[in-house]
Amino acid sequence: MARASYSEEQVTVTHHGDRLNGEPVTIAASTTRIASWLEDIATVDRIHHYLDAQLRNRTTDPGARSLRAMRLHNDEAQASILAAVRAGVTGDTGGGVPDATDAALEREVSEHASRWTHALARLIEHPGWFEHLCDALIATHRVVRVGPAKPCGRCGNDGERVVYTSLYPGVMDRVTVSCDPCGRTAHNPYGEPGPEVDVRLVARAGSAVLEVATLADPRAVAPTAMHLRFAPGDVEGGPVKPLPGKHFRLEPGGRSTTTMELPDAVGVGARLQVMCVSGFQVSTRSFALPGPAAIPRPRATMSRRRDARKVTAKRGTATTDSAVASVSSKA
Ligand SMILES: [Zn+2]
Repeated sequence: MARASYSEEQVTVTHHGDRLNGEPVTIAASTTRIASWLEDIATVDRIHHYLDAQLRNRTTDPGARSLRAMRLHNDEAQASILAAVRAGVTGDTGGGVPDATDAALEREVSEHASRWTHALARLIEHPGWFEHLCDALIATHRVVRVGPAKPCGRCGNDGERVVYTSLYPGVMDRVTVSCDPCGRTAHNPYGEPGPEVDVRLVARAGSAVLEVATLADPRAVAPTAMHLRFAPGDVEGGPVKPLPGKHFRLEPGGRSTTTMELPDAVGVGARLQVMCVSGFQVSTRSFALPGPAAIPRPRATMSRRRDARKVTAKRGTATTDSAVASVSSKA
């Protein structure tokens, strides 16, 4: 994607392109809309099942409410689709959905998908739930192929691309891309490249800022809801107050650049986590950030902290990038 040029001090964190390595891309439009929705709903059902298991014995977990809302909207979307299919059986389109109900159904399912996405975005704001989501996406899958991916945009190491197929019929196959130092960096439905995401760390007006450029695939059939979340890593004296996430929408082929100012407390293993949802289809990106010592700080920030004890131990220690990478590789 096109690169802007910046005069500020900057560190390239990494950039992702289409990591499908030239394999043919099959977009949902190639099958019928109904079949595609039913596959999405079966997939989402398995995701809920896995996330529910994470909630067991944690009845006060703030994730429970979001998960209930997700189930509700998935169930209602399914009910709408099944009602339309039943209506279609007696309609004049030979078992398909009558044209008159088609647009109304599309709107209804999209609305439920959008509300489901909002609930999921709230869920991943809680520490640990982005990781649970990534695990949930392949929880009922087995590996069918492991191959090389393009060198990692952040560290330059060889990447690994893994294709997973589900043990449950009708549940979407998945692809992950990872490299040893940075861990799992991309997670896509098979055949869907998902948006490109470029992350840069720049020093600007006294702050360290993440500049995140995104580009949606022009072949996507629906807009993509983008959710960016900063995970602070292991902060001395933590946990720290979470940074509000960033949310925006990309139309097919659309691009956007957004910024996130990093807090003073950036720990070892800090990451930028990105969730991209189109309809009910989820892609994720996870970017390992440089260690605290490598974060550009144009001016001393200690004096404006009310609670300096949270950062004093990390600041100024000789944390190397490879040390950060070894921590982040478990993600
Ligand atoms: Zn890497």
